Amino acid sequence: MSDTIRDTVIIGSGCAGLTAAIYTARANLKPLVLEGHEPGGQLSITTLVENFPGWPEGIQGPQLIENMKLQATRFGAEFRMGHLASADLSKRPFALKIGSETIHTRTLIIASGASARWLGLPSEQALIGHGVSSCATCDGFFFSGREIAVVGGGDSAMEEALFLTRFAEKVTLLHRREQFRASRIMLDRAIAHPKIQFRANTIIEEVLGVEQKEVSGLRIRDIVTNEESTLPISGLFLGIGHIPNAKMFEGQIDLDEDGYIKTHDSVFTRVAGVYACGDVQDRRYRQAITAAGSGCMAALEVEKYLEEHGR
Ligand code: NAP
Repeated sequence: MSDTIRDTVIIGSGCAGLTAAIYTARANLKPLVLEGHEPGGQLSITTLVENFPGWPEGIQGPQLIENMKLQATRFGAEFRMGHLASADLSKRPFALKIGSETIHTRTLIIASGASARWLGLPSEQALIGHGVSSCATCDGFFFSGREIAVVGGGDSAMEEALFLTRFAEKVTLLHRREQFRASRIMLDRAIAHPKIQFRANTIIEEVLGVEQKEVSGLRIRDIVTNEESTLPISGLFLGIGHIPNAKMFEGQIDLDEDGYIKTHDSVFTRVAGVYACGDVQDRRYRQAITAAGSGCMAALEVEKYLEEHGR
């Protein structure tokens, strides 16, 4: 057990956590950033970010994250690999269990983000890493010249489908209903792409190839005609949204019915000194810039809290 008490610990190293790290580090609070199981968060597995202000030509997601990390490090933020096993927020200082170590801290910023959602089919789960992937930028390269499918109807699915056209011969985009959630600009780009074929009103019943340990196709069903068919593909990419990483705080702070942390006045949780920012508490905007903005707010609240309650 470490006998020092930290001023602040930040859980998560995506856009929200890194912005909180820059601000708290500049305030000389020497934040400890726990990187989590997906260091860099969702931006680190995305491609070109065109809507983060200040980058007229766009910037690659991993580069943006790397820049933020360098900026935080320059001011004294400390980074550590690993993820939070459990937290005791009922006593002060708060106790955080990380591996075999317990870290004590006066304040806590939860910026643990959200992770990719899976369809939940046994065949899908069995083939993760064998043709089923939730990360086009990580795995797209392996499908050069092949036919693949992307599932989802939001911006993530459009972005993945467009990115995968760099490698794949053909991308079939499967969506479970007629209307798309994706923004008009992303949807139009995907529709206009000659390598992308849309199949709306279609659900995946089974991923084929479990016995061979390699995806060979999909058994799909048109929900309007109820017709089943086989789509021969060698890769399936998931683009169906995310699940908040807040389970470890269940019972200690309030979560909503989908597991997002409930905040009031932007970043306050029901425990004084514990703040939540970014996608773990935002189911509405979920943008890099809004995550960064809320990370800044959490950091400013930490400063204020420590001023009022002492370090
Ligand atoms: P999203 O907008 O929530 O879309 C998820 C999609 O997956 C929906 O079309 C949903 O269908 C479908 N889906 C969910 N569960 C499913 C299931 N079990 N089976 C089949 N389909 C399922 O999520 P997102 O696309 O990840 O986007 C999240 C946020 O990030 C949005 O605000 C988006 O604008 C933003 N984003 C922006 C960019 C960019 O600007 N470059 C890129 C990526 C994401 P239904 O529509 O039927 O519910």
